[in-house]
Amino acid sequence: MPGLLVIGTLAYDTVETHRERREEALGGSAVYFAVAASLYGPSRLVGVVGTDFHGAHLADLQARGIDTSGVEVASGETFRWGGRYEPDWNTRHTLFTHLNVFEGFDPKVPPAFRDSEYVFLANGHPAVQAKALDQIDRPVFVVADTMNLWIDSTRDELESILRRVDGLILNDEEARMLTGNPNLIRAAQEVLGMGPRYVVLKKGEHGAFLMGGDAHFSLPSYPVTEVVDPTGAGDAFAGGFMGFLAEEGDTSPTSLRRAMLHGTVTASFCVQGFSFEDLGRRSRSDVQERYSELLSIVSV
Ligand code: AMP
Repeated sequence: MPGLLVIGTLAYDTVETHRERREEALGGSAVYFAVAASLYGPSRLVGVVGTDFHGAHLADLQARGIDTSGVEVASGETFRWGGRYEPDWNTRHTLFTHLNVFEGFDPKVPPAFRDSEYVFLANGHPAVQAKALDQIDRPVFVVADTMNLWIDSTRDELESILRRVDGLILNDEEARMLTGNPNLIRAAQEVLGMGPRYVVLKKGEHGAFLMGGDAHFSLPSYPVTEVVDPTGAGDAFAGGFMGFLAEEGDTSPTSLRRAMLHGTVTASFCVQGFSFEDLGRRSRSDVQERYSELLSIVSV
């Protein structure tokens, strides 16, 4: 499998739903991504944690085949984020974002990671995403994610990273915010005009679609009946999507369509538990089973 690298946040999250509240749950964009991708093969993680980050959490990631030698320990506290969901699960309020050690993060991609071919620039400061990408020798397929905070506060840097990536994954609200266009198809087309060859637009429980020069593919989400915590669904989607592409070593339109199904499946496991409690105990055969079920739901 060609090297799959992710750079993004490792975090402790506080999550409130209408049923429960969890404090200090292990999360972060890169963590959710890597745990989902680990269902397909090994991956490489670049990020930063504070001295308060539990060694057992790093050991857990390593045991899943995630190479954490690109995780720097900096003096200070780990990134923390808090969010609250409305009972419809689709509306999320960010309660706080404490960048902490992520604020001054200067990513260093270890020499052994520089031959990575598949690269995911998980949600994080676009300047950090760019600095990490600068250190990859010959990336083959680079996908980025972003979030309202960065669209708002680091617009120029975000636009410059968009000119360097093959794909952008974002949700409906972010697409509207980035382009100012309320129509999602038009918004996706406008994002394509900003640089990426492909855009994957997620619509929460309403599924996701992929658009690009030679592909247009749309999928519902997997019908989960017991949502526990949607946090990380977007990153888990990206982990299944990129994990599958790296496993295949192919980004043809057919593989991209299959990757959309894989992302949909890994995201569905993610929302069934807090942190990666459900996703993390799944196997590749669980993925395959749900993949077949999803395929039968969307086929005639
Ligand atoms: P998602 O639900 O897919 O948007 O991912 C939520 C995860 O992203 C949480 O585990 C957070 O710790 C992390 N996160 C939240 N805000 C940010 C941010 N501004 N930059 C990077 N990561 C973030």
